[in-house]
Amino acid sequence: MSKRDYYEILGVDRSADEKDIKKAYRRLAMKYHPDRNQGDPEGEAKFKEASEAYEVLADAEKRQAYDQFGHAGVDGQAGGFGGAGHSSFSDIFGDVFGDIFGASGGGGGRRSSARRGSDLRYNLELTLEEAVRGIEKTIRVPTLVSCGTCDGSGAKPGTKPKTCGVCQGTGTVRMQQGFFAVQQTCHACGGSGQVIEDPCTDCRGRGVKEETRTLNVKIPAGVDTGDRIRLSGEGEAGSKGGPAGDLYVQVIVKEHSLFQRDGSNLYCEVPISFVDAALGGELEVPTLDGRVKLKIPAETQSGKLFRLRSKGVTPVRGGPKGDLMCRVVVETPVKLSEKQKELLREFQATLDRKNSSHSPRKTSWFDGVKKFFEDM
Ligand SMILES: [Zn+2]
Ligand SMILES: [Zn+2]
Repeated sequence: MSKRDYYEILGVDRSADEKDIKKAYRRLAMKYHPDRNQGDPEGEAKFKEASEAYEVLADAEKRQAYDQFGHAGVDGQAGGFGGAGHSSFSDIFGDVFGDIFGASGGGGGRRSSARRGSDLRYNLELTLEEAVRGIEKTIRVPTLVSCGTCDGSGAKPGTKPKTCGVCQGTGTVRMQQGFFAVQQTCHACGGSGQVIEDPCTDCRGRGVKEETRTLNVKIPAGVDTGDRIRLSGEGEAGSKGGPAGDLYVQVIVKEHSLFQRDGSNLYCEVPISFVDAALGGELEVPTLDGRVKLKIPAETQSGKLFRLRSKGVTPVRGGPKGDLMCRVVVETPVKLSEKQKELLREFQATLDRKNSSHSPRKTSWFDGVKKFFEDM
């Protein structure tokens, strides 16, 4: 299956910086998150695709490999659980080019059969409060662990893997193709140089077993969608004694009913009556630490932003705590009684008698309209 270009998936330019990439991914992750697209396989596929693209482009090393070699440069590193077993770029490079050019040392060097386990990704959803304050989460991760019965060797206890007869343990075979002598991975042993005649019955010779592990993850305060936490050595077990891969916990912050977050600042909307807006008053507004009082001056217009200092988020990478920005929105009163309507008409009449200095915006708007038609 041919893969789409990672830049195209995220809808960013090839010169996009880290911030643009993060922003694009965040937008797609919100849109296609499986929780919002239940029973929609297309949404899920889009989510996976975007996550994979992000994982590569957000990592300077992987991005460079991708820019240079395309998908071949990074395949197996991304894509979440059950990766192809490639763990680092050098592995892939070795697989793709090493055999042909004899990178394993003139054919004499035997390839080590030990292999680092795959990196895993775990998507962790957090509420805004959890992301802002930090939390310890218990996650269950399906993964491959070293088989205890055979100690990861893949051979039945009491037996040992034998040297491969086809390649004499080198892991590669030479083939003549036209002018070129080509080295290829030995198919009999898969390049390990060893064959298991008596496989371990527990792991069927693979040396690893599937297991669900329970892990405690400390989420630092201030994380945001797109951040990831690396748990070193908590990925898939390496095979044949190789080191384990890493587990990346990818953070996704759920939408909040009151607050929107932008970096270290929080935004919220506060509806007020037009009477409060005209006369001024004290409002109670929510913050993540509880309610606080907010003084509204007289003659406050709809849409005005009030800044509550240091009621935002302390960024996870350090820096000053952000602010809470409250946008007041004047609400038109509804379900008025006859008496209330009468009062409003009376009130309106008092405005009409004078000129419109009570509505500076309306006045300047009408002046603008007048000028527009005069200039036509
Ligand atoms: Zn085993
Ligand atoms: Zn072999």
